[in-house]
Amino acid sequence: MARRGDRNYGTLTDLVTAGRDPEDSYGFVNPPVVRGSTVVWPTVADMKAARGRYTYGRRGTPTSDALSDALQTIEGGDHVALAPSGVTAVSLALLSVLSAGDHLLMVDTVYDPTRRFCDGFLKRMGIETDYYDPALGADISAHMRPNTRAVFVESPGSLTFEVQDVPAIAGAAHARGAAVIMDNTWATPLYFRAHDHGVDLSLSAGTKYLGGHADVLIGYVSATQPYAAALKATHGALGLCCGPDDMFLALRGLRTLGVRLAHHQASGLRVARWLQSRPEVARVMHPGLENDPGHHLWKRDFSGACGLFALELTPGPFEAVEAFLDGLELFGLGYSWGGYESLAIPYDATPIRTASRWAPKGPTVRLHIGLEDVEDLIADLEAGLERYAAAC
Ligand SMILES: *Cc1c(COP(=O)(O)O)cnc(C)c1O
Repeated sequence: MARRGDRNYGTLTDLVTAGRDPEDSYGFVNPPVVRGSTVVWPTVADMKAARGRYTYGRRGTPTSDALSDALQTIEGGDHVALAPSGVTAVSLALLSVLSAGDHLLMVDTVYDPTRRFCDGFLKRMGIETDYYDPALGADISAHMRPNTRAVFVESPGSLTFEVQDVPAIAGAAHARGAAVIMDNTWATPLYFRAHDHGVDLSLSAGTKYLGGHADVLIGYVSATQPYAAALKATHGALGLCCGPDDMFLALRGLRTLGVRLAHHQASGLRVARWLQSRPEVARVMHPGLENDPGHHLWKRDFSGACGLFALELTPGPFEAVEAFLDGLELFGLGYSWGGYESLAIPYDATPIRTASRWAPKGPTVRLHIGLEDVEDLIADLEAGLERYAAAC
C-alpha cells in the first residue's frame, strides 16, 4: 500500500485511512495497542533532551496519537484532545476557555449533566452561567455582556431536538470576542461540520456513535486556532488520558462510522415517518421531518441525521407509558445511545428548561433506532402503541 498522499479524499475514505500507516505497524492493518506509562532513554543526555517522540504515557502514546490524528483529519481543526468520557470533554472545553469572573451563555436545551456542571462546579469557581432560548440566532447579542467569554451550543437540543442557527450565533459571538463551544455528539463531524460553521471548540461524546457498540466511554475536543494552545494546556494541567483499549475501540469504531450512521439515519427517518401516521402519537421531534420547526436550518447546515429522536404521545397516564415501554422486545430501556442496538426512555424535560417554553400535553419518549431490521422495530413499536391506547 502506498503512503497516503496530500490528495483530498472523501469522508468515507478518510474514515478508513486516517491515523494509520501499516509501515509503522510491522505491516499490520491496525496500529498496535500500546500500554505504557514509562518511557526510557539510553543516556542522561538523551533524557535531558527528551529525544524521541514520547516522554510519558499520560502525555501521548502511539495509540492516542493514532486516534487523535484520525479525529483531527475528520474534524478539520488544529488540535484534538482526548478525554475519558463525553462529560470530561464538556468540562475540558469549558475550562479551556473560561476563568473566574467570566460569563457563559449556555443553551437551555443542553445535555443535563452539562447544565449541572455549570450550575455547580463553574459557579463555585466564580463563573456565571445564563441560559438562552435555542430559537435565538443573531439576537444572542442582546444577552451578551462585556465579560461573556463563551457561547455554548448543542444542536439539536438534548431530549427535545430544537435546531440552532449556529452560524448566526457564531457571528454574534465572534463580533464580541467570545468563543463558540459546541456539543456535536448528535450529528458527529460527518453530518455537521462544526468548524466550517464557526465553532471554535467542537466536542463529542465518543461513547455514542464513534464507539458505536455500547462498550466504551470516551470523548474528545477539537479546537481551531486560537484555542488550540489553551486546549492543549488545559488537557495537560488536568492530567486527562484514556485507557489504551478504549482508544483502540474508538479508532475501530471510526472505520465503520459512515456506514453505521447512514443506516441509523435511514431507519430512524423511516420509523419517525411511520410514527407520524399513528393516532397515539401527537408529535415526532426529528429535524429531518419536513414539518419539524427546525427542518429548514437542519437542511441548510446538516448533511444527515442520526438515529436519535423523540415523540410526544397523545395525553395518557404514566401507567400507559409503562405498558408501552415494558412490553417492547427489541428496545432496551437504557440511557445513552449510539450503539448498534435500539433503545427507549420516557423523559420529562420540564424541570430542566428555564429559558424556553416546553409544555407538551402528553408523555414524551426518546427512541434510539439501531441497526436491526426496521420492519421488526416498527412491529415492536406498533404493538407497544396498541398497549398504550388500551391502557389510556
Ligand atoms: C452522552 C452525552 C454526553 C456525555 O457522554 P459520556 O461519555 O456519557 O460522559 C455529552 N453530551 C451529549 C449530547 C451526550 O448525549
